[in-house]
Amino acid sequence: MAISEEDKKFIEKQQRVVLRNCGVINPENIEEYIAVDGYKAIEKVVTSMTPEDVIEEIKVSGLRGRGGAGFPTWFKWNAAKQSPGNEKYLVCNADEGDPGAFMDRSVLEGDPHSLLEGMIIAGYAMGASEGVIYCRAEYPLAIKRLEIAMDQAREKGFLGKNLFGSGFDFDIRIKAGAGAFVCGEETALIASLEGERGMPRLKPPFPAAKGYWQKPTDINNVETLANVPWILFNGGAAFGAMGTEKSKGTKVFALAGKIKKGGLVEVPMGLPLREVIYGIGGGIKNDKEFKAVQMGGPSGGCIPASLIDTPVDYENITKTGAIVGSGGMIVMDETTCMVDMARYFLDFTRKESCGKCNYCRIGTKRMLEILERITNGEGRDGDIELLEELAVKIKDGSMCGLGQTAPNPVLTTIRYFRNEYEDHIYKKK
Ligand code: SF4
Repeated sequence: MAISEEDKKFIEKQQRVVLRNCGVINPENIEEYIAVDGYKAIEKVVTSMTPEDVIEEIKVSGLRGRGGAGFPTWFKWNAAKQSPGNEKYLVCNADEGDPGAFMDRSVLEGDPHSLLEGMIIAGYAMGASEGVIYCRAEYPLAIKRLEIAMDQAREKGFLGKNLFGSGFDFDIRIKAGAGAFVCGEETALIASLEGERGMPRLKPPFPAAKGYWQKPTDINNVETLANVPWILFNGGAAFGAMGTEKSKGTKVFALAGKIKKGGLVEVPMGLPLREVIYGIGGGIKNDKEFKAVQMGGPSGGCIPASLIDTPVDYENITKTGAIVGSGGMIVMDETTCMVDMARYFLDFTRKESCGKCNYCRIGTKRMLEILERITNGEGRDGDIELLEELAVKIKDGSMCGLGQTAPNPVLTTIRYFRNEYEDHIYKKK
C-alpha cells in the first residue's frame, strides 16, 4: 500500500525505540518477536551479567520513569534490591488514565513481549521472582494479548523456573484494575492489588522498602519497562546518546486535539515543541493559529504559543509550569477557551479524588464552582485571586500527587491567559 506524504513526514522524523515493533510484528506470534532479536537481552543478562551489572547498565543509560515523575529507574531498582528480605515484587503500572493518552495501550497491544522481557530483566536485577501487571480493565485487547504472550513465553521457557538454566525463576500475572485514576499513584495501586479500596497511603515507608504485602516492591510503568530490552541489547551508552544531558533517550507522546496529524509519536528528548507540532503533526487543523498545548494530562499544565520553541525534556517543560508526565499532548487552537479547558481538567481530577484529604476533596470542588460561575458569565471581582489562593492551599495540603498537581491546569492558564479570565469576569464574554 502506498504511503501518503503526510504519513511519511509523520513517521520519518520520529526515533522509535519503545514503538520499534508496534505495527511491524504480529503481537500474537512470539516467533515474530524472536525474529527481531526478542528475548536476546534477557538471555544475555541471565547468562553473562550479575544483577549489579544490569543496574549499572540502566544507570549508564540515564533511563528515567516514563509514567510521570521521571525518577531514575536504576535508583528504584537498586533501592528494592538493597531492601532486606528474599520475597520481592515487581509491579508494572499499566493503569494509564490521562484523558487523551494511549502510549502504554499501544505497547501492550502492539508489542507485549517487549514489556514481558523488560519485566524479567528488572526482576533479575532487583531479586524479584514475581511480577504483576496492573492493567486497567478498559483495555481488554491489551489483557488478551498479554495473556497470549505470557503463555507463549512460558512454553518457550522465557517465563517460569530456571530461566536459561541460570537458576533464576520469574513469572508474571495480570491484575485488572477498575479504572480509578488515583490508582496510578504507587501506594493506591498497591492497596488495590491487595484487594482494598485504591487509596494512597502515607510515605514513608516507600514501596521499595515496604510495598506489596509489606515486601520490597518496585513499580515502573509500561513505557519505562519496554525500553529495558533495547537498552540491555544495545548497551546503556547507546540509549544515553539520544536526548539531552539530563533527559536521555526517547519519549512517546500522544499527540491529540486540534492537530492535523495526531497519533503516537516517539522522539528524542529535547526536540523543540515546534518540531513535534509542526514538523511531525503537520500544524494546526484548518490552518488556524496555534494557541497552547496541554502537557502531562490533568496533572500537567498548558504551554502557550510564545513558548513553542521549548525543548521537550523534563527540565524545560517543568520550567513552563507543565510536566512531561506520561506523555499526553493536547493541542489547542485560537478558538479554545482556556478557562473552559482548565474547568474540564479540574472537573476530571475532582471526580477522581479519593476523598481522603480535605483540601483535595473539598478544595477542588470549590475551585470548580468558581470556574463554573466564571465560564457562565457570573464571575466576581476577586475570583482569580481566590482561585490562586485555593490552588496553593490544595497543593500544600494534599497527601498524594493527584491533589498536589490538580490545580496546575488552572494555575498555568491564569499565568499565561489571565486576560481570558478577566474578559469572562469583567466583560462577561
Ligand atoms: Fe486522595 Fe486527593 Fe488526598 Fe490524593 S490528595 S490521597 S487523591 S484526597
